[in-house]
Amino acid sequence: MILDAEIKQQLAGYLELMENDVLIKVSAADDSVSRDMEALIGELASMSSKIKVEKASLSRTPSFSINRPDEDTGIVFAGIPLGHEFSSLVLALLQVSGRAPKVDPGVIERIKRLNGDYRFETYISLSCNNCPEVVQALNLMSILNKKISHTMIDGAVYKDEVESKDIMAVPSVYLNGEFFAGGRMDVEEILNKLGEASDIAEFIARESFDILVIGGGPAGAAAAIYAARKGVRTGIVAERMGGQVQDTLGIENMVSIPYIEGPALASSLEEHIRRYDVDIMKSQRVKRIDKKDLIELELENGAVLKSRTVIIATGARWRNVGVPGEAEFRNKGVAYCPHCDGPLYKGKDVAVIGGGNSGIEAAIDLAGIARQVTVLEFMPELKADAVLQKRLYSLPNVTVLKNVRTKEITGKDKVDGITYINRESGEEAHISLQGVFVQIGLVPNTDWLGDFVEKNRFGEILVDNHNATSVAGVFAAGDCTNSPYKQIIISMGSGANAALSAFDYLMRN
Ligand SMILES: Cc1cc2nc3c(=O)[nH]c(=O)nc-3n(C[C@H](O)[C@H](O)[C@H](O)COP(=O)(O)OP(=O)(O)OC[C@H]3O[C@@H](n4cnc5c(N)ncnc54)[C@H](O)[C@@H]3O)c2cc1C
Repeated sequence: MILDAEIKQQLAGYLELMENDVLIKVSAADDSVSRDMEALIGELASMSSKIKVEKASLSRTPSFSINRPDEDTGIVFAGIPLGHEFSSLVLALLQVSGRAPKVDPGVIERIKRLNGDYRFETYISLSCNNCPEVVQALNLMSILNKKISHTMIDGAVYKDEVESKDIMAVPSVYLNGEFFAGGRMDVEEILNKLGEASDIAEFIARESFDILVIGGGPAGAAAAIYAARKGVRTGIVAERMGGQVQDTLGIENMVSIPYIEGPALASSLEEHIRRYDVDIMKSQRVKRIDKKDLIELELENGAVLKSRTVIIATGARWRNVGVPGEAEFRNKGVAYCPHCDGPLYKGKDVAVIGGGNSGIEAAIDLAGIARQVTVLEFMPELKADAVLQKRLYSLPNVTVLKNVRTKEITGKDKVDGITYINRESGEEAHISLQGVFVQIGLVPNTDWLGDFVEKNRFGEILVDNHNATSVAGVFAAGDCTNSPYKQIIISMGSGANAALSAFDYLMRN
């Protein structure tokens, strides 16, 4: 049995939602993955009379496609979509059966408008929590447009393809055989990348807002909900809904929710915003802010939005180590997400730059996968919590180098080593390895503001206890501010505070 009893019970509920028959075409051989795949599909078919199965010869074996009885959709799973991809399998079954996707009608129109042949292939790992969003977006596009097809490829099953394409980070998306994009993307980001941008006229036609929130992470979501609950005209513009929460595996400190996975929390943030009258503008980046009669925000697509007040909640991003080789070998051995990319370094040698909590957590995680892990810490001591350090030092395949400065990440087409300098002796050393995980904290996303609002030397926006910035009517919340602690509930609290303060400002002005 491939599925355990609990999963089967949940699955039964989902399969009841199937609307029409679905035909699964299975391409299997006599290997163990094929046998497990056939067992999984057999279990699915035994749970719903709407699932029909037939043998086929697809371009990869083992693989299977999910189709309407009279028409192939172009959706193929090469490998067994368990782990994080199980939800992609369930969604594909439901959507191919005719269940309507939860997507804006405007987005559906944009997918249908695409006119060209698009053969997408996405390399994933089953432990990657960034991969399902991409797989599900491309599957949805295949369902809605006959000229689009999509194959999910499990890198652990198709190791030769991964090696020959030098794939060192997932998800890695190929379009018609050429590398298209890496990393997490939602359907709107994919459409933007394909040049199927949303119509700028839609933005120009928008009336001015009372409260306009920039950023769709915990701070922005809380701000939008609190603002809308006051009955004022509220908008939210965000490059990536969910923010950093999308990159988080398990969250155990959301008070009252003992455990939740990042992508699930990100979805419920968006769902909660949608319960209110909030104008949501996703996959849009603000590039300039100015204050005239109203506050004006210019988007990267050229449109200008106007509002009486603005709440900046643009959060933070991974800090780069800034040494030669880092940018050149990004996704070619330089990685930032151990949960996502760790499995690609199975049996290899890797380094983790950074000895704080995230670096040491990454090193512990990677030690279970990689052959050897080397931690490089700039300071004379690690900064991680004692409990993490204890665990780290108990591992036989980890070496810790303290008081060292990373000089260069070396390689030709991909990473082959790291050069560092011992800060005490000044001696230079080089380690041969295949992967470098950079874990040295975050930088606030505030560069785009220029000197519009006052910031501290770290680039964080200075706010008072009303979350007001140095510019009247402009508030800021969450990780982009000088708040001493960067956490989800703290960001949510400050987003709520900023929205209440913005409402108070509207009342008085
Ligand atoms: C790997 C990892 C694990 C974590 N684990 C935990 C945990 O277990 N518990 C916990 O409490 N915290 C955790 N955190 C921290 C937590 O995720 C953050 O404190 C929180 O997400 C900050 O929320 P925010 O809304 O301020 O910013 P973010 O989550 O960074 O959101 C910023 C938003 O602004 C958008 N944006 C940025 N620039 C622009 C622009 N120019 N135009 C439009 N939109 C823009 C982004 O796309 C995004 O929507 C973790 C962080 C990471 C990276």
